[in-house]
Amino acid sequence: MWREECGVVAVYGHPEAANLAYLGLYALQHRGQESAGIAASDGRTVRCVKGMGYVADVFTPEQLARLPGSLAIGHTRYSTAGESSSENAQPFAVVCNKGHIAVAHNGNLTNAGPLRRRLEREGSIFQATSDTEVVLHLVARSRESDLAGALRETLLQLEGAFSMVFLAQDRIIVARDPWGFRPLSLAQLEMPGGRLAYVFASETCAFDLIGATYLGEVEPGEMIIAGPEGLVRQRYAPSCRTAYCVFEHVYFSRPDSVIFGRAVHESRERMGRLLAREHPVEADVVVPVPDSGVSAAIGYSAESGIPFRHGLIRNHYVGRTFIEPSQAIRDFGVRLKLNPVRHLLEGKRVVLVDDSIVRGTTSRKIVRMVRQAGAREVHLRISCPPVISPCFYGVDTPTKKELIAANSTIEEIRRFVDADTLGYLSLEGLRMAVEDLHGAYCYACYTGRYPTELVNLDELMAETRSRR
Ligand code: AMP
Repeated sequence: MWREECGVVAVYGHPEAANLAYLGLYALQHRGQESAGIAASDGRTVRCVKGMGYVADVFTPEQLARLPGSLAIGHTRYSTAGESSSENAQPFAVVCNKGHIAVAHNGNLTNAGPLRRRLEREGSIFQATSDTEVVLHLVARSRESDLAGALRETLLQLEGAFSMVFLAQDRIIVARDPWGFRPLSLAQLEMPGGRLAYVFASETCAFDLIGATYLGEVEPGEMIIAGPEGLVRQRYAPSCRTAYCVFEHVYFSRPDSVIFGRAVHESRERMGRLLAREHPVEADVVVPVPDSGVSAAIGYSAESGIPFRHGLIRNHYVGRTFIEPSQAIRDFGVRLKLNPVRHLLEGKRVVLVDDSIVRGTTSRKIVRMVRQAGAREVHLRISCPPVISPCFYGVDTPTKKELIAANSTIEEIRRFVDADTLGYLSLEGLRMAVEDLHGAYCYACYTGRYPTELVNLDELMAETRSRR
C-alpha cells in the first residue's frame, strides 16, 4: 500500500540456492537497505529467514545454513518512515491450500487498497500492511487447483507495477506486470556435469557476481515457471504498450546493470552528453555528485571538453541519505556522506552534475559545500527533467507539496539551491538518452501523465501524504 523500492532474486536448481540468493541480494543492496530476507525450499519444506537491516547484517553463515535446498527467493526492501517494521520484511511465507509458498515483490499495486478492503470484508486476516500479502490471499482463495493456475488468476486482478518471485516446494514462478514498470531478468548458470540452474533478478549486476549468463528479460505480462520440467514461459496477460520506468535508468539501477535490455551506464552517459548540449557553460571542472551523478558527469565532460574531476568524495559506509528514516537524520546524512576535495575546487568554476532534484534539500547542501570549499561558481546540471508528480509504480517520491519542481519555477529552484546557473535535461533529451523511439517508457514523474487508469487516485495521493 505504499511505494516500495526493492530488489528481488530467485534461484532454481542449484545446491547452494540460498547462498546464491544471498550474493544476489548483496549486489542489489542499493535497491533497499531496510530489510532483507531469503526463503528456500529443499523440495518439501519452505523455510524463511528475514530481518531488518543490510543483507550482510541480516544473514550470518549459521542463518544461511538454516536455508537448505536447491530453490530460493530473496528480497531487499526499502520503505519510508512509520512502516519500517519487521512484519513487512519479505519474503512472505505461508502454508495454504496451494502448499508451502513464499513470495517477494518489487513494485507497487495501485489497486491494493480496494482489493484488501474486499478481502477483509470477506473475512481475510492481514498481518502486515504490505501489498504482497494481498497477493497471497488471492492465491489461496483461487479455485484453481495448482499454484500456476491460481497465480495466473491472481495476477490478472492486480493493477500497477509488480515484478514478483514465488517459491513453491518444487518450483519457482516469476511474473512481471503487463506494463513492465519494474525490471526483472533471467540468467542461467552452468554447473559441473552440464546441468543448468536458473536465476532471476531485478538487475543484471546480481548475475555478474555469481557468474550467471544473462539470457534476457522476463517479458512484461509474462510468467515463467522453473520446475522439474525445465523452464516454461507463458503469457498470462495480453500484450499492451509498455511503461518501463525511466527512473531506473536515471537513478535507481546500478550503472553496471542492463535494464530493459539497455546498459544503464550508456543511458546515463548519453544523458550527460545531451545535457551538455542543452545547457553548455564555461567552466573549469565537471564534478559529479557521487555515485548517482558519475556516469552523467562523464558524458557532460566528454561532450563539453571540460575536465572531469572527483571533487566530492563519498563515504561508502553510510546508507543513501534519501533512504534515512527521518528528516533530521537525512540532513545530517549529507555531511556524513560527502566531503569536498578543496584542492580540486578552490577558485574553480564548477559544473556540478547530479541525477535528480526531488525536494531540493540535498542539492542545496551540496552546492553550499562546494562553495565553502572555495569554488568560484557552481553550475548545477541535472540529468533528468524536473520531477513534478509522485510515482505510484514503485519509486518512492514524496507528496506533490514537497516536490520542489511541482511548486517552483526553474529560477526559483536555482535561487533555493543557490547555484549560479541551473539546467535540467529536457524530456526529449531523456527520451533520446534511453533511445525510446516508440514510447516504451513511463515518464509520469516528469509529466504527471500516468500510463494506467488510477481509479483510486485520491487514495493513492493520500497514502503518499501519510508517509512523511
Ligand atoms: P532531494 O532533492 O534532497 O530530495 O534529494 C535528491 C537526491 O536524492 C538526488 O540526488 C538523488 O540522487 C536521490 N534520489 C532521488 N530520488 C530518489 C529515490 N526515489 N530514492 C532514493 N534516492 C533518491
